[in-house]
Amino acid sequence: MKVPQLDLKAQYEKIKDEVDAAIMEVVGNQTFILGPAVEKFEAEAARYLGVKHAIGVSSGSDALLLSLMALGVGLNDEVITTAFTFFATAGCIARLGAKPVFVDIRPDTFNIDVLKIEELISNRTRAIIPVHLYGQPAEIESIVALGGKYRVPVVEDACQAMGARRNDRMVGTLGRTGCFSFYPSKNLGAYGEGGLIVTDDDGLSRALRSLRVHGESGRYHHERVGINGRMHGIQGAVLSVTLKYLDGWNALRRAAAARYDGLFEEAGLSEFVKPPVTIEGNEHVYHQYVILAARREDLVEHLRDLGVAAAVYYPEPLHRQPCFKNLGYKKSDLPQSVRASREVLALPIYPEITEEQQRYVVDAIREFYEKWEGK
Ligand SMILES: *Cc1c(COP(=O)(O)O)cnc(C)c1O
Repeated sequence: MKVPQLDLKAQYEKIKDEVDAAIMEVVGNQTFILGPAVEKFEAEAARYLGVKHAIGVSSGSDALLLSLMALGVGLNDEVITTAFTFFATAGCIARLGAKPVFVDIRPDTFNIDVLKIEELISNRTRAIIPVHLYGQPAEIESIVALGGKYRVPVVEDACQAMGARRNDRMVGTLGRTGCFSFYPSKNLGAYGEGGLIVTDDDGLSRALRSLRVHGESGRYHHERVGINGRMHGIQGAVLSVTLKYLDGWNALRRAAAARYDGLFEEAGLSEFVKPPVTIEGNEHVYHQYVILAARREDLVEHLRDLGVAAAVYYPEPLHRQPCFKNLGYKKSDLPQSVRASREVLALPIYPEITEEQQRYVVDAIREFYEKWEGK
């Protein structure tokens, strides 16, 4: 049996007619950059999330970059974020000449450890970027409260968590801005690159709309320097279709995660495998189902031999990346991030995964550890 990491073709087959028609409408109108399809999606996304403004941009990375630009982050400023995330979360800080200040993670959820943020706030701190990693909300209300105490804005990296809720509030809507990615493999995927910034702040929304078109304030008149960060019309059209299915897909991911939980319990592998932990108040959307696994590298190889695609997000925490050498971290710093980078393993999860496939995955894992114990 083959169990891929995800199956985008299966998803497309189910919505093909709608998506194809939406794309052809943009082609017919020749409105490829921003335009009516993007405006329609922005309005729908704002309604879905319950925010005042939604700004369609070129990617999740640019959503983060533009947020920091709009907040005036620049040379020698500091921005606090987690060391255990996708590179873009910190790349946007460094690109503006600011300094990423890395915080370690909670060992159970892999999200930023809120108890370790306050000690790192300085008079140069200009923003805090928590990440809702793997689709599980970070403790955003505590982080926003901390930001309020020191007058530091919070930019939520919700790129993996569209539709997730913390205490019934949508993630991405509690910080000063929330950033989303529509990279095709994300829970809400476009058919190319795409991203979104949301905010309730009118002034910030105006700045963001200007910054995504090179800082234009009138035609060919620039009050500030921005970037080319516009969403494509075709992506807006596709996203208007897929957004309608997001809650259903997220529910299927949750059901698949619950099935994995049950299968691991049956398998009795607690000595070797730790299934993911969801903390109180969180509605997880399982962008990834991530276990902690003993002898991970050998397990990955065993699974690959059996046709199961498992992946490591992320094998190297950011404070150990060569490009951040100048920040002066030691290899042994942020030990929870280091440990996670050695032990995490993302198992196949997507809305269309079948119970049979999931049984096959867990059986393959059990077979690996039984062999190991037998040796
Ligand atoms: C995917 C992702 C991004 C970047 O999104 P792109 O659309 O690929 O630029 C940023 N942060 C996190 C946590 C992500 O998973």
